[in-house]
Amino acid sequence: MSNQAKAVHNPIRINPETCVRCNLCDWICPGDLIYKEEDNRETLPVIKYPDECWYCGLCQSICPTNAITIIFPEQMVRNKTDVVSLLGKVVE
Ligand code: SF4
Ligand code: SF4
Repeated sequence: MSNQAKAVHNPIRINPETCVRCNLCDWICPGDLIYKEEDNRETLPVIKYPDECWYCGLCQSICPTNAITIIFPEQMVRNKTDVVSLLGKVVE
């Protein structure tokens, strides 16, 4: 078996120029995946558990300076599966 670690996709990018270190993204993430050291205006938030992000977009929506960009993985962007196959058909 290979010892090479599988690269984990980074789901969000935070712009250090526009981030005002407000902690809101850390506070809102429903999976508690983002960590921002409180009371420290120097440090940027970091995503601690990138492989657990489910791309809900809450961190991006709450960010007051639009510093967060969501980076969807290729598998999501190129998914051609139709909605009925994914969610099932409503039978009346
Ligand atoms: S997209 Fe949702 S789950 Fe992913 S880091 Fe942002 S708030 Fe958390
Ligand atoms: S919500 Fe936006 S401005 Fe606030 S810490 Fe997160 S990335 Fe920075």
